[in-house]
Amino acid sequence: MPKPVLAIVGRPNVGKSTIFNRIVGERVSIVEDIPGVTRDRIYSSADWLTHEFNIIDTGGIDMGDEPFLEQIRQQAEIAIDEADVIIFMTNGREGVTTADEQVARILYKTKKPVVLAVNKIDNPDMREMMYDFYSLGFGDPFPISGSHGLGLGDLLDEAAKHFPDTEDIDYGEGVIKFSLIGRPNVGKSSLVNAFLGDERVIVSDVAGTTRDAIDSPYTFEDQEYVIIDTAGMRKKGKVYESTEKYSVLRALRGIERSDVVLVIINGEEGIQEQDKKIAGYAHQAGKGVILVMNKWDAVIKDEKTMNEKTKEIRENFQFLDYAPILFTSATTGKRVHNLLPVINRVFDNHAMRIQSSILNEVISDAVARNPAPTDKGRRLRIYYATQVAIKPPTFVVFVNEPELMHFSYERFLENRIRDTFEFEGTPIRIITRARD
Ligand code: GDP
Ligand code: GDP
Repeated sequence: MPKPVLAIVGRPNVGKSTIFNRIVGERVSIVEDIPGVTRDRIYSSADWLTHEFNIIDTGGIDMGDEPFLEQIRQQAEIAIDEADVIIFMTNGREGVTTADEQVARILYKTKKPVVLAVNKIDNPDMREMMYDFYSLGFGDPFPISGSHGLGLGDLLDEAAKHFPDTEDIDYGEGVIKFSLIGRPNVGKSSLVNAFLGDERVIVSDVAGTTRDAIDSPYTFEDQEYVIIDTAGMRKKGKVYESTEKYSVLRALRGIERSDVVLVIINGEEGIQEQDKKIAGYAHQAGKGVILVMNKWDAVIKDEKTMNEKTKEIRENFQFLDYAPILFTSATTGKRVHNLLPVINRVFDNHAMRIQSSILNEVISDAVARNPAPTDKGRRLRIYYATQVAIKPPTFVVFVNEPELMHFSYERFLENRIRDTFEFEGTPIRIITRARD
């Protein structure tokens, strides 16, 4: 189910990131625990009462050397493109400024709902300052205080009133939904064209259109696929599309609706920090993941190069040790045909169910080989395990005392499970619970 997206726009220093952090709260992120992967505080899931949504702080999208007004303009346009509801934030202490008017002028162009927030109204005496803001033409301004956490409830109530119905297109169980993510210029759109350009591919006449994406459904050898969110990829031309943080945002939107995610790396340039960050999101979202080094034609190579590159990818993406690695050239089309069989396999593995009896045999065998850890004389006892979910496969292990389960032992159990069953390409989750 795609969640509604709320974007915060406004000139610098009005308090966007303060409000963003307030709304997001202290969410623990798995990605933060992964070495080399830090979290971008520009996009997060959040909730308010019964509403779940995603929120973007457009102020965090750095536009490089662009002049000040140009940066604000691009950020506002991103909000218009990506969001369902826009919070336009201003600073009550400074009144309406030229930059606010600039933002307003861009927002007039959208039909999307805009809620005007006036921040830094830290106490009731300051409310008078708000009247100025009616002149922006977005109706009643909502007074808030980011530093004191005031007024956020009313603001979010108003935003939530405008959330659209979030029905996703139902393509059916067996249809493989996948997306291609990666930094700008790694070859995502070229790969999509290579997929769809194959003469044996039957592309559906009607592309599914969601709120913010055009999906490409097609059939190959009796298997149905949908490439998710290629709209942004195939209809390029916006200036900000080349900014890396924007590509992260795009990636995140695509990941959510996919079963399998292809993380594309540019073979010509080699692995960059941002590649790891993007891949970290796919891992965290629990999707099937395939690592693809594209532009393989542009790499000077001998018979050892592929092994060396594989090793380098493994070292850089340690948290994706389960992901298959492929090398492609979108422009020559070479090796692109290798992708689909791997996508099929990862899709199956991601949805695989293991019988409890077999699972428990594997677990008891693992415990017999490598006894569970002890702590201050107490030993972890594993009673039984069961799979509770697919996509990704999730196992609950019932034990005497969950605190005795160490990360390394959990990892050992995961590896035993992986050695026994074909879970290539999919993350596995293990949850330890005390038996009642
Ligand atoms: P952004 O550039 O729009 O993301 O703004 P920030 O969130 O970084 O905030 C800019 C400055 O305003 C920081 O020093 C914040 O501490 C301060 N600030 C944010 N919200 C409030 C508020 O409600 N009241 C006051 N007095 N200061 C605030
Ligand atoms: P995107 O921004 O990730 O969608 O990347 P594009 O598909 O637009 O490709 C960016 C540039 O890289 C274009 O000039 C492509 O022609 C080029 N390109 C894409 N794939 C390959 C490839 O496999 N080999 C080479 N040599 N160039 C490629």
